[in-house]
Amino acid sequence: MSRPLRVAVVGAGPAGIYASDLLVKSGEDVTVDLFERMPAPFGLIRYGVAPDHPRIKGIIKSLHAVLDKPEIRLLGNIEIGKDLTVDEMRDYYDAIVFSTGATGDRELRIPGSDLDGSFGAGEFVGFYDGNPDFARDWDLSAEKVGVIGVGNVALDVARILAKTADELKVTEIPDNVYENLARSAVKEVHVFGRRGPAQAKFTPLELKELDHSENIEVIVDPEDIDYDEASENARRESKSVDLVCQTLEGYAIREPKGARNKLFLHFFESPAEIVGEDGKVVGLKTERTELDGTGNVRGTGEFTTWDVQAVYRAVGYRSEAVEGVPFDDESAVIPNDGGRVIDPATEAPVKGLYATGWIKRGPVGLIGNTKSDAKDTTTMLLEDFAAGLLDAPAHPAPEAILELLHEREIAVTTWDGWYNLDAAERALGEADGRERKKIVEWDQMIISSHPEYEI
Ligand SMILES: Cc1cc2nc3c(=O)[nH]c(=O)nc-3n(C[C@H](O)[C@H](O)[C@H](O)COP(=O)(O)OP(=O)(O)OC[C@H]3O[C@@H](n4cnc5c(N)ncnc54)[C@H](O)[C@@H]3O)c2cc1C
Repeated sequence: MSRPLRVAVVGAGPAGIYASDLLVKSGEDVTVDLFERMPAPFGLIRYGVAPDHPRIKGIIKSLHAVLDKPEIRLLGNIEIGKDLTVDEMRDYYDAIVFSTGATGDRELRIPGSDLDGSFGAGEFVGFYDGNPDFARDWDLSAEKVGVIGVGNVALDVARILAKTADELKVTEIPDNVYENLARSAVKEVHVFGRRGPAQAKFTPLELKELDHSENIEVIVDPEDIDYDEASENARRESKSVDLVCQTLEGYAIREPKGARNKLFLHFFESPAEIVGEDGKVVGLKTERTELDGTGNVRGTGEFTTWDVQAVYRAVGYRSEAVEGVPFDDESAVIPNDGGRVIDPATEAPVKGLYATGWIKRGPVGLIGNTKSDAKDTTTMLLEDFAAGLLDAPAHPAPEAILELLHEREIAVTTWDGWYNLDAAERALGEADGRERKKIVEWDQMIISSHPEYEI
């Protein structure tokens, strides 16, 4: 072929960035257009990872080297499926890789989920991480708060709620988030898991780190430390599970350090109902459970109503469909066979379409996991190309798509634009004695990226 293979990657989170990198360094002549809905790239590294995790946020720096590559062109502020349809894209690209991740909260089907004061964890994350799609103001008037879920997102939410605003002021949080947190009434955070310590989905580092704040007293009831045979096996088989159990045991037996806010980690409490009065949360009812020998639990019929005035539901994220691409509503992923998008009716591959990252396998796993995922998907794409299975597009010239976007008057943000936004956020931070302060508003991000645009 006398021209480069043209690939569109949709979603500039870690999965899309790693996939772009693997494609351009594959040895084939490939150029990538990396489309992103937001004005800024980096997906959940920017809008999910907690602000007090600077080391993880720092992965953005290592991704600069990828996006600096001339064969990768970032086209931001474009929502595929709305601003540009998938059918239209087929005229410009040999193949399209979807790496659209996840943004919404998975539903928790218990009574009271829609009460005032019952929040999706993802909504709160969107607020404190300065995502312009989410609320700018947050009700933190509850003194006692419940968090449902025992994964890292539950820990992030619990930690941010239990820390003081001043502890977080050194991070990149925008002013409105700091001001909101400074008014917070939260004194107690209760995290609930329906199974036991050996079944918790925390990673050891995140769990240990809870204790690093001098303002947080982490408390575990010794009664909640229980293992059955399957739990013991899990501890033997996984160093990570064992470390989590050891840390929880440590929390259960030590003397309190006298910190101002309490963070309870409760196990064997299955949320049954968010209790309301006059439409507002006034409690969380849970059923005590016990291990059944297989690592699963059964209900004991013993119920407790916890005195909390707000409940955060941290039971997982959920991906959304992209118009024009198959979607499995049940598992909320793009149906695929190892990365090749398939037609759910026939299970046959849909020519030229691929998926990677959370939209491919669901919202579990760390940033690092998206790398191996991207390897599998891009390998398949290149195999299909080598086998002559991709249709040549009508307009493969890189300028052609820009002309279409220009005709549609879309304020496309670019990689140079990111450097401008980055500099603007750093300057805002510097004025405040910190590394960065996030710019939240959509238009403000565009203008900071491209001062030449008129918005
Ligand atoms: C609250 C939270 C905290 C986390 N903390 C950590 C942590 O500390 N350490 C860690 O390793 N992992 C952490 N993770 C996990 C990590 O964020 C994910 O593993 C990773 O971001 C998944 O990458 P992805 O590229 O598949 O999806 P995403 O990061 O979600 O990226 C998808 C991108 O696609 C874009 N997009 C969506 N739809 C469209 C469309 N139609 N058109 C164009 N663009 C679109 C989105 O705007 C987004 O930028 C955390 C996750 C969450 C939710």
